[in-house]
Amino acid sequence: MFMMKTSWLVAAMIMLVSCQSVSGDTGNIKAAVTAPTERPLIILVHGGAGSARPGGMPAKDEAAYRAALGYALETGYQVLAKGGTSLDAVQAAIVTMEDNPLFNAGKGAVFTAEGRNELDSSIMDGRDRNAGAVAGVTVIKNPIRAARAVMDQSPHVMMARDGAEAFAKEKGLDIVPPSYFFTQKRWDQLLRARARAKAKAALPPNSHFGTVGAVALDRDGHIAAGTSTGGMTFKRFGRIGDSPIIGAGTYASDTSCAVSATGWGEFFIRGTAARDICARVQWTGANIQEAADTVLADLENMGGTGGVLALAPDGNYAFSFTTQLMFRGVRTKADNHVYIYDDEGQ
Ligand code: ASP
Repeated sequence: MFMMKTSWLVAAMIMLVSCQSVSGDTGNIKAAVTAPTERPLIILVHGGAGSARPGGMPAKDEAAYRAALGYALETGYQVLAKGGTSLDAVQAAIVTMEDNPLFNAGKGAVFTAEGRNELDSSIMDGRDRNAGAVAGVTVIKNPIRAARAVMDQSPHVMMARDGAEAFAKEKGLDIVPPSYFFTQKRWDQLLRARARAKAKAALPPNSHFGTVGAVALDRDGHIAAGTSTGGMTFKRFGRIGDSPIIGAGTYASDTSCAVSATGWGEFFIRGTAARDICARVQWTGANIQEAADTVLADLENMGGTGGVLALAPDGNYAFSFTTQLMFRGVRTKADNHVYIYDDEGQ
């Protein structure tokens, strides 16, 4: 089932604040003073998509997710409100979720089959389509910061594993022991996955993913996107998902849209999902909601599940997902909401 309800058009507001007519010896002088266009400031975040547990989520957990999403939104929005860039807002929002063990990103990341935490992240600037990504890193506290450093401080777009870690160290980013990422909840998930694998049982479909991401629009009209994840529980053999892949899990261009995805990464890679959404906006004139829904439907036909945040430079945005829930939220001047289930939202 899709959730593709909220779409919001923010029109630019031009105000004529004064118009004076002065008569005198020199004749009539007319002065019109126009206030600068007030641009919408928008940030959207997600904290992963998946299935609801039988019996629903304990109220305490649900409240904790809502609070964490609200905090991420507010952190990013304050960057925008102070005149910061969409890129900085996206990064700031994602850092709060990487630091929160509730999410499958940074602390709280899922475990690989071998019992390691291997993290992927990417960020993209819609202004010039500059981008950075890291994949399979194990000691970088905030992979989104490392992705940003790759973008800003190297000629490359993606770095992986020990190379990315050496680069992050060189750039002075926070380095932690691998044990920093441990949480009992994720370890127990791994043990369950190992038991299922031993019994040759498939992992449950739509199991809880928990990747985080954000897209934002700043006062200069630029959009940006970022995504960070521990990947999928029980991933093997150095598997890399869609989250660090530009055009799959993350994309941003001021000529079309910004997207951050979550879900079964292999399908988002094969469907070049994030870029496909923006290509539809750019080339077919589809609105952002139609574009996101079409691509998610296509992935579902392929057998994939997940969801996206998508935001256009004109302020239109969309949540679209094929799962029962997606942790998500929006913050603008007028709107400040977090949602979890598919029947929430407008
Ligand atoms: N897309 C991520 C991956 O496949 C997982 C997720 O979003 O939960 O690595």
